[in-house]
Amino acid sequence: MAKIGINIATGSLQQAEMIVGIDLGTTNSLVAIIHPESGKPTALKEFDSSSLVPSVVHFDGFGNAEVGDAARAFLETDPSNTIFSAKRLMGKSFNDLKSNAGFFTYKVIDDDTDSLVKIQVGDRFYSPIELSSFILKELKNRAEHILKTPVTKAVITVPAYFNDAQRQATRDAGRLAGLDVLRIVNEPTAASLAYGLGLHKDEEKTIAVYDLGGGTFDISILKIAGGIFEVLSTNGDTYLGGDDFDRAVMEFFLQQVGIPFHEIKNDKSQLQSLRLMAEAAKKTLSSEEQFSGKWNEYNLSISKSEFNSIIEPLVSRTKDCCAKALSDACLTVEQIDAVIMVGGSTRVPLVKESISAFFGKQVNDSVNPDEVVALGAAVQADILAGNNKDFLLLDITPLSLGIETMGGLMDVLIPRNAKIPNRASRQYTTQKDGQGSMRISVFQGERDLVQHNRKLAEFNFTGIPGMPAGLPKVEVSFLINADGILSVTAKELRSGVEQSIEVKPQYGLTDEEVEKMLLDSITHAKEDMTTRALVEARTEGEQILEVTEKFIAKNPELLSSEELVQTAAAMQNLQLALTMDDKNLIQIKIEELNEISRPFAERAMDAAVSGALKGKKV
Ligand code: AMP
Repeated sequence: MAKIGINIATGSLQQAEMIVGIDLGTTNSLVAIIHPESGKPTALKEFDSSSLVPSVVHFDGFGNAEVGDAARAFLETDPSNTIFSAKRLMGKSFNDLKSNAGFFTYKVIDDDTDSLVKIQVGDRFYSPIELSSFILKELKNRAEHILKTPVTKAVITVPAYFNDAQRQATRDAGRLAGLDVLRIVNEPTAASLAYGLGLHKDEEKTIAVYDLGGGTFDISILKIAGGIFEVLSTNGDTYLGGDDFDRAVMEFFLQQVGIPFHEIKNDKSQLQSLRLMAEAAKKTLSSEEQFSGKWNEYNLSISKSEFNSIIEPLVSRTKDCCAKALSDACLTVEQIDAVIMVGGSTRVPLVKESISAFFGKQVNDSVNPDEVVALGAAVQADILAGNNKDFLLLDITPLSLGIETMGGLMDVLIPRNAKIPNRASRQYTTQKDGQGSMRISVFQGERDLVQHNRKLAEFNFTGIPGMPAGLPKVEVSFLINADGILSVTAKELRSGVEQSIEVKPQYGLTDEEVEKMLLDSITHAKEDMTTRALVEARTEGEQILEVTEKFIAKNPELLSSEELVQTAAAMQNLQLALTMDDKNLIQIKIEELNEISRPFAERAMDAAVSGALKGKKV
């Protein structure tokens, strides 16, 4: 039985922890929760208003930000102070955006082309993170107003193709808005969750998520197995959506009344009213056969079949993307178990019909396509809140996992952000003749030296049969299973000796700790590189000294007395260099020793070869 608290100040019911799901969209954003009574995902809205908040920020003359419908009203009248599509700028530099610079009606700063973009409004500069944070703050305020309880924790969705920088930017925007972002979830994953797909441990499905919004199109192919969502491929067009349908209808109307486009091209208010009429027509035709309306003195009309024929080329382009995504995932349409529709433009009947025909099966469209991503984010939030204990959704490793190698260096086996479940292995060998054991220390973190990372486990791998140094092949394997448990196995491949351990709470770090570790790795990157180079040079130097020593002991007859003296001196010099923190000096001394020892190494080789030939009968 779940405990329910009552907030004495407001008199409202309070759950132990309310984690909201947020769809931070290019055009619209919204918040959803799992309804405390019905247990169903529900989009938050006030009375009968829409749950959608336009992702638009308008700044007034004093720099005050306004978000949503009120801001959208300024798109036409105050375009330079009204920011739309901030999501397209997340984690981008001006160079990334150059080809689409004409799309933005506000000032995107391009002075330093490789750093992240800034947007200039009046005499102030905003990063896309700040702009997104204004939207998130508005969503947070709305949610608190509706729920009458503080909202501080959230799951936020991002497109599957978002890279690390874009995901991090989204997380930072959440933090700026006063939200603790517990998880960044892929939009197609969220959409699947909203349809209840992937909620059962033994379920295995391959699904396509078709997302056609106002300005963007995405197709993602996902594989769901054991509660794990794997993105097999993504494709799409970042400038294709319902807005293009509207434009096609506008052109149709202008042709109908015989007005060439260039005549009204510069008349913003005429264009705007025609665009609104076109959008109304499009929406009407989603449920009716015919649309008619009045624009100025003209009667406009369009039938569903006329509409279908003008948008057909656009729908066809989305099918091409679907075909590419399938071929990238090495799948055929027959292997897709379900197709999920996301985005307002999938309400267009032709879209549903064409995509059903393409995949050869009826598409899933029963959940509101504008809300489906946020609803799924709420499902994920509920899982994180611990209300669905049987189910744990793990998607990526938060930090790199590796083992300690010579000189205290971190050797990464599974990098940060790798998909879970995951497996990786690498071969190591012994440093000393007859070495019978090897210490395997497992670390988590991004720094080059293990001493700066977090030790997860350590074990002594014993039973390596006696062999000369470098001969044993010890394969260390990491396996992270669907529950996020890491097991480490070491196996000597020549003898088959094997040992393994389980490393348990791998997720014991808080988000703050993970962030601090990442930040540290960036701040210390240069210093780490220098240390790594020094450690590597030292290791190499030590190995060369050992090999040379062994060689002299074994083959004294191959060296002249002069060579012996020279070698001893060079070895001493190298030994001395190893005690100093100078990588270049160590390398010079290694080179000098190599120079001296090369001739007798060659002689030894010749002796070995002629010896081998002697043994053979030709
Ligand atoms: P989204 O970006 O997902 O919010 O999608 C918004 C797009 O969906 C806009 O282009 C809307 O015009 C479009 N849209 C919303 N409702 C409908 C409808 N009933 N029929 C066709 N398109 C719609």
